[in-house]
Amino acid sequence: MIAENLKTVEERIRTACLRAGRPRDSVQLIAVSKTKPAEAVAEAYAAGQRLFGENHAQEIVAKAPQLPKDIRWHFIGNLQKNKVKYLVGVADLIHSVNSEAIAAEIEKQAAKRGLIQNVLLEVNVAEEASKQGASLEALGSLLSFCEAQPHLRLCGLMAVAPLTEDPEESRPYFIRLRQLREELAKQLKDPSSFRELSMGMSGDFEVAVEEGATYIRVGTSIFGPRYYSV
Ligand SMILES: *Cc1c(COP(=O)(O)O)cnc(C)c1O
Repeated sequence: MIAENLKTVEERIRTACLRAGRPRDSVQLIAVSKTKPAEAVAEAYAAGQRLFGENHAQEIVAKAPQLPKDIRWHFIGNLQKNKVKYLVGVADLIHSVNSEAIAAEIEKQAAKRGLIQNVLLEVNVAEEASKQGASLEALGSLLSFCEAQPHLRLCGLMAVAPLTEDPEESRPYFIRLRQLREELAKQLKDPSSFRELSMGMSGDFEVAVEEGATYIRVGTSIFGPRYYSV
């Protein structure tokens, strides 16, 4: 089932790349395995998937030891300061830096471990009251703050478009995020690593590919619906 779903998603990515005139390897698929057991991750791994996304630090910590070591984990969830220590050096890329306090904590933990942590800035691109992410207004100063941290590597931007039935409604937000990356890159002394755009989920990843996503985060279309216990 998971292998079959991965194949379908891969085909859709390929077709979207063709439409956009982009090489297939210009965008990476993150299989979002949150709430799914290690067995489901292992199934996707057996089908060739190596990059996975989680939104709780505890889930990475619990699953990673049960799984092959060449799996790469990305953290895509809302970051709590007291959980940062579990993620630094474990997550290849943290997508959700949205405040100076979180950035400062990542800097502290990365310095302690003597490593450089790859991060994206999460942008509240539709300025929704209910959404995580830095406001457009705060973004410039958050960028400068992160640039000044020696153990952070600024790799680009991440956003979650407003929930909608029609993927076309996400397009203006994906375009906006791409423009923001270009504008912000001009503010950096060294913009060479500031290249990534993490955008697009099960409902809208093809539109995201068309608009320049370098990472798409796909859960439901690969692993099926999530069930949350209450
Ligand atoms: C859960 C989640 C996804 C995946 O969502 P699907 O609709 O299941 O593909 C992507 N990005 C973030 C930030 C998420 O929390």
